[in-house]
This record gives sequence, C-alpha cells and structure tokens, in this order.
Amino acid sequence: MEKINVLIVEDEQRLAELLKKQLEDSGLSAEIAYDGYVGKELVEKNRYDLIILDINLPLINGYDLCKEIRQTNSKIPIIMLTAFSTPDNKIAGFDAGADDYVVKPYDFREILARVNVFLRRSDIKAPGSKKLGLADLEMDPDTKTVTRACKKIDLTAKESQLLEMFLRNKEKLLSREFIIEKVWGIDFDPSTNIIDVYVNYLRKKIDKDFYPKLIHTKFGFGFYCSEKEI
Ligand code: CA
Repeated sequence: MEKINVLIVEDEQRLAELLKKQLEDSGLSAEIAYDGYVGKELVEKNRYDLIILDINLPLINGYDLCKEIRQTNSKIPIIMLTAFSTPDNKIAGFDAGADDYVVKPYDFREILARVNVFLRRSDIKAPGSKKLGLADLEMDPDTKTVTRACKKIDLTAKESQLLEMFLRNKEKLLSREFIIEKVWGIDFDPSTNIIDVYVNYLRKKIDKDFYPKLIHTKFGFGFYCSEKEI
C-alpha cells in the first residue's frame, strides 16, 4: 500500500525538517517546500493527501496559497501551522479554506492526531485500489469485498473473478470466448455451459434481491453488465 503523502510548506528549515522526520517516523511520507511559490508548484505537480501550511511564508503567504489550492482542489485537508494565534488570524485561515489550525509552538502529537482525523474522514486509499462499482454495487479489487445497497455479499473465488471482469468491462457486450479467457483461461472450451452456471450463481447473489438488475444476457452473443438493458 502506498504511503500517505504530506506536503509541508514551511520556511523555518529546522522546524520543517523535524516535522518531516516525525511524520516519517509515524509511517507517512512527507515533502517540504520552503516557500509559497515552491509549495504551489509541488501541489500542481504531485498528488498529496494532506497539506500542512505555514502562514508567514516567502513569495506567497499561507492564506493566498490556501486560496489558490482551493480553487482547484476543494477536498485536500489543509492544516495551517502558525505562530499567529489571534482569533482574527484563525478566522482568516478558515476563510482562506483551511480545515484546521495549529498554533506554534506545537506538540507533534497534536498534529498527528489532526492528521489522522482528516485521513480517516477522507477515507484515503492508495492509488490503484479504487473501488469498482455499478449502481449500488461496490467491489474493492484489493480485498474482493463486495457490497450491494451496503449489504455485504459473499462470493466464491470464481464468482468474484467473474464479477470483477464484468465491472471492468461495464456497458460492453462480452462474448463467451472473452469471458472464458478472462476468467477460466484460454484453454477452456467456450462451448461448455460453465459461464451460464456461474452467471446464474452470481445473479442469485448480486441481482436476485435487488433492483436494477446488472447482469444481462444477450442471446446468441454473450453477456453484459449494465444498469440498463441494451
Ligand atoms: Ca514562517
């Protein structure tokens, strides 16, 4: 699983390096920008899960950088880290789009606790582990967990492979040869009725008690997976 990636925008070098080390010791990965301009460039270039942002920064200050980031990314958690502690400063930070505010000098545990809250809230997953889904059916390709209408559905290994193949090829007519090759392997005889048998097993589990039906038969051709019949 890819590590959570934090961007620290902080011009006080020792503080930034200490924070980076503390985050890394906590199992995260962190990068530092020592001024607002570099911070902006890194945000445009890389993918971060969270930003820790100082206010008093060279070139672009934290408020302005926060506003800029918010123009293109409304979701990324931003924690402002600053020596300014008046209510006015805090309000300006929230107005700029910050999610939270930590006053220096800080205790690292306080930062880590906040980071964890945001990461839990945003349900961050490593890239590539994106859930597959159709209508109210969801499948996590890593854990093979399947839910429909939030109800967990237990599938056998073959049913799970078949469903994953359908979800990765939504809205396409899939020939029996294609399905056999993807799920059972190229040496399998496509004229067997094994596909029909397994499609029926799968339908019983994911379609029978739900609406809309997701797996459809196209007679004389094969199958397709769609919210609508085509
Ligand atoms: Ca500063």
